[in-house]
Amino acid sequence: MYNCIICRYHEIATKGNNRNMFEKCLVENIRHALREIAPECRVKRIRGRVWIEPGNAENVFAAEILDAINVRLADVFGLESYSPAVLLPVDMDVIRETALKLIPQAFEKFAGKIPKFRIRARRSNKRFPMTSREIEIDLVSAVAGKMGSGSFKIDLDEADITLGCEVRDEFSALYLDIFRASGGLPVGSNPRVLTLLSGGIDSPVAAWQIMKRGSPTDFITFHSAPYTPPETVDKVRGIAARLNRFQRKGRLFIVNLAEFQKAVRDNCAERLRTVLYRRAMFRIAEAVARREDCKALVTGEALGQVASQTVANMDTINRAIDMLVLRPLVGADKLEAIAIAEKIGTMKQSSVQVPDSCTVFAPSNPATSAPVDLALKEEAKIPGYAAILEKIIDDIEIDA
Ligand code: ATP
Ligand code: MG
Repeated sequence: MYNCIICRYHEIATKGNNRNMFEKCLVENIRHALREIAPECRVKRIRGRVWIEPGNAENVFAAEILDAINVRLADVFGLESYSPAVLLPVDMDVIRETALKLIPQAFEKFAGKIPKFRIRARRSNKRFPMTSREIEIDLVSAVAGKMGSGSFKIDLDEADITLGCEVRDEFSALYLDIFRASGGLPVGSNPRVLTLLSGGIDSPVAAWQIMKRGSPTDFITFHSAPYTPPETVDKVRGIAARLNRFQRKGRLFIVNLAEFQKAVRDNCAERLRTVLYRRAMFRIAEAVARREDCKALVTGEALGQVASQTVANMDTINRAIDMLVLRPLVGADKLEAIAIAEKIGTMKQSSVQVPDSCTVFAPSNPATSAPVDLALKEEAKIPGYAAILEKIIDDIEIDA
């Protein structure tokens, strides 16, 4: 009998003048998330609340549509929680009658057991003749009258069943569930960025964390065909598709780094190869980001995780470019990254073993501290360094 889904948000409500933009962004993202499963739904913004209406002739959500919506809303950033609800006029008799219709289905699930029950009323309508407390008492007595006072135990702290009741100026609402969503900021409320996406565990998690803070992201991945197989890129395509569930589809830029890697192999000190690859990746990513109007790069780097992620090497790699690099995992342990990868559904894909671009001609004993002047000296040994990168950038494939 639900005719509305009440959507709640926290952080965006505190953003002063930007609030309007944030709310609009959230509404658009909810519409986008529901467009395939429930295109008839109407998403509305009314005074600090966003709600979803069924938009069908019966004005009721079918149970299976509600399930599908639940799955999608869990991935919409900016949303704190949401509740399928019955929207009602501001009238205590109607509220009470409707509560008595809702309650039996909630109690049914506890057949044979006495559920702990509570009512949480919130009255923001100051003209309404009852206080929140009085509404709660009225509803509890009505429920006791209908179900029998021995059929439940009141527990205000830890209830099996909570009946929520809101009485606002224009409407009142009743609901039984509060589903937690992902929090964060609506994607699109911060500028677009470009994530360096490998087939590993960390970079998909980094992309997710940045989307969660409101930035939509495009993706760039490096392979080394023919030294890496097509599966290397296919794997990243799959991960990007999974990540696109959290935003409007971002593009994937597919870069073949092999020509550059050969030049490094043939001209430079072996121990510096990884750092030199990384500096080239950053330069190419920066060029693409500027061209595509992405305002920062994102990586899955975590301090000290591998040779290329020591402070010294990160500094040397960073100095190849003049653009902000966001590293949301810099202080994360691998286990923390894995826990998020599991939660967002990229862990399985990341666990598939395929050859990685970075390991092509990789040194067995990479430098853990390569000063930037040494890197520059080695790069100077590569004939036509800039032209090689330009050619690679010209040949980038784009999955749009
Ligand atoms: P990940 O699990 O994200 O691959 P990692 O712990 O394996 O990270 P590295 O392989 O050193 O660490 O990579 C550090 C970061 O550099 C990655 O998180 C990613 O952002 C970027 N990166 C590495 N390899 C590639 C690649 N082939 N294509 C795109 N980005 C890459
Ligand atoms: Mg990696």
